[in-house]
Amino acid sequence: MKLKALLMAMLASSAMTSTSIAIADEQYKISDKPLELTIQMNHKRYPVYKEDWPVEQEARALTNIHLKDVTVGANMRTDSENTGKTEALNLMLASGTIPDIVGSSRIKDFVNQYGPEGAFLPLNDLIDEHAPNLKKFFEEKPDIKAALSAADGNMYYIPYLPDGKYGRAYFIRYDWLDALGLKPPETVEEFEKTLRAFKTQDPNGNGEADEVPYFARQWPELLRLVTLWDGRSSGSDTYHDFMVENNEIQHPYAGEGYREGIKNIARWYADGLIDAEIFTRGSSSREFLLSENLGGATHDWFASTSGYNRLSSEIDGFAFKAFAPPASISGKRIEEHRRIPIKPDGWAIGGTNKHPVETIKYFDFWFTEKGRRLANFGAEGVQYDMVDGKAIFKDSVLNSDEPVNNQLYAVGAQLQGRGYFQDYDYEAQWSNKFALEGIALYDEGDYLIDQFLGVAFNADEQKVYDRYWGTIRDYMLERQQTWILGTGDVEAEWDDYIAQLNKKGLKDVLEVMNTAYKRQYGK
Ligand code: CA
Repeated sequence: MKLKALLMAMLASSAMTSTSIAIADEQYKISDKPLELTIQMNHKRYPVYKEDWPVEQEARALTNIHLKDVTVGANMRTDSENTGKTEALNLMLASGTIPDIVGSSRIKDFVNQYGPEGAFLPLNDLIDEHAPNLKKFFEEKPDIKAALSAADGNMYYIPYLPDGKYGRAYFIRYDWLDALGLKPPETVEEFEKTLRAFKTQDPNGNGEADEVPYFARQWPELLRLVTLWDGRSSGSDTYHDFMVENNEIQHPYAGEGYREGIKNIARWYADGLIDAEIFTRGSSSREFLLSENLGGATHDWFASTSGYNRLSSEIDGFAFKAFAPPASISGKRIEEHRRIPIKPDGWAIGGTNKHPVETIKYFDFWFTEKGRRLANFGAEGVQYDMVDGKAIFKDSVLNSDEPVNNQLYAVGAQLQGRGYFQDYDYEAQWSNKFALEGIALYDEGDYLIDQFLGVAFNADEQKVYDRYWGTIRDYMLERQQTWILGTGDVEAEWDDYIAQLNKKGLKDVLEVMNTAYKRQYGK
C-alpha cells in the first residue's frame, strides 16, 4: 500500500525525478489515499480555486490532499474596503453549505462572527495536537496569536502573514534639490522651505511656475503629514484607523497633534505647496505628475515609486528617491506606515468538515519550509531553482514583461485566500536598486512604530460599534476636508468638533474598543 502511494506520488509530480527525492518528500503525506476536500476561494486576484494551478498540483503530489473548487459567488465584487464581510461569503452562507475549506480576503470578521455559532471550527486544539509548524509560529509570535483570537478566545482562521517591514516612504526629486542647491530636508521646517523652493524657483527649468510640490496618489497620504506636527493619521496600514497609545485605544482624529497638523496642512495647501487637485486627481496622479516632470515629493510605496526612475531615459537627470522622515516640531522622526504583520485574509475550516485533522495538517504543510516556498515562489524548476539552499527566480520570470507577482498569482502562489507566511525575499529579488537603497536608509534610522492589529468584538460590542462608528467617521472626514480646503477653521471649530464627536458616540465606541482590546491582548 505504502509502495503504491509512493509510486503514485512519483508519477503525479514532474518535479520529482528520482526515488530518493520522493522518499524524502514522503514526510509531507497527510493521507495514504488521495483525499478530496472542497474549497471556496474568493479574493481580488482570484474568484475561484483553480485545480490546475501548478502550485496546487505540487501540493497535491506531496500531501495527497486534493482541493476541489466549489466556490459560489465567483462573479461578485469582493474588493470593498473596510467591510469585513464579502458578498461572496454571505452568498455561500445563504446557500446552506459551507465547504471544507473557506479562503477569502476580509475573512476575519466573518469567521469571528459565525465561527462561535458553529459555521467554522475553532483551531486552537487542532493546532496544538496536529500542526507543529503552526504551533511553533504562534508560540514565537504571541501578539499575532492574540490578534487572531475571536471574542470567545478561539482562533477561527489561518491568516495570510505579510513579510518585510517597509511599505511607504517619503520620496523627493533629488535632481531638483541639486538644481536649487538644496539637500534632502531633515526637519519639517526644511521640508516646507524645500516645497516652497520647488513652487517658486522653477526646478524643472521651463520658465513656468507649474511645479506641484507635494502630491499623492491616495489623498489620505496628505493626512500622513500631520505626523510632522506630532499628530497621527492612522494606527495601522488601513487609513483612518484607531491607534494604540499608552496601552489604550484612541482615535488619531481627536488628538492635539492632529489639530496642529491639519492647521499647517491647510496653510501649505493655501500656499500652493500641495497639489490643488489632491482630493480629486486620483490614482493616476503619480504617473501623470512624474512623467510630465511636474511632481516634487510624495509618500508612497518603496518598490513601485522607485520604479519611476526609468523616466531618467526621457527626463534628463530624473532622480526620484526616498529621503528619511523629516523631524517633527518636537524632533521626532517617524514613518507611520509599515506592512502590517497579519492580514484579515486567509482560510478557515468549515463547521461540517469531516476531516478536521487532515485539514489542519494541510494548513500546517504551508508553514513547512517546503510549503512556504511553494506558496511564495511557485513550482521548483518552473518559476525558480534552488541555488545554495535558496529559491532564486529564473531569469525568464525576472525578465518577463509580466510583473513577477502577476506571474505568481497565475500559478497559484501568493494567494490572499491561503493562510501562509510570505517570504520578503520573493520581492527583494525584483526590487530595483533605488528601492533597496531607500529601505536601507529607513532601516538605519529605525523610524517605524508599532501598529494596532485590530480587535474582535462580542455581539454587544459589535452593536455599539455598528450603531455609531460610520456616522462619526463620515463627520471626521467631512470636517477634515473643509479645514484643509480652507472653508472651515480648525482652531476656531475644534471644541465644537470634539463635542460633536462625543455627542455622536465616540466615547461609547472607544469604550467597547478598549474592553475588547484588554480582553484580547491582556493589557
Ligand atoms: Ca517650472
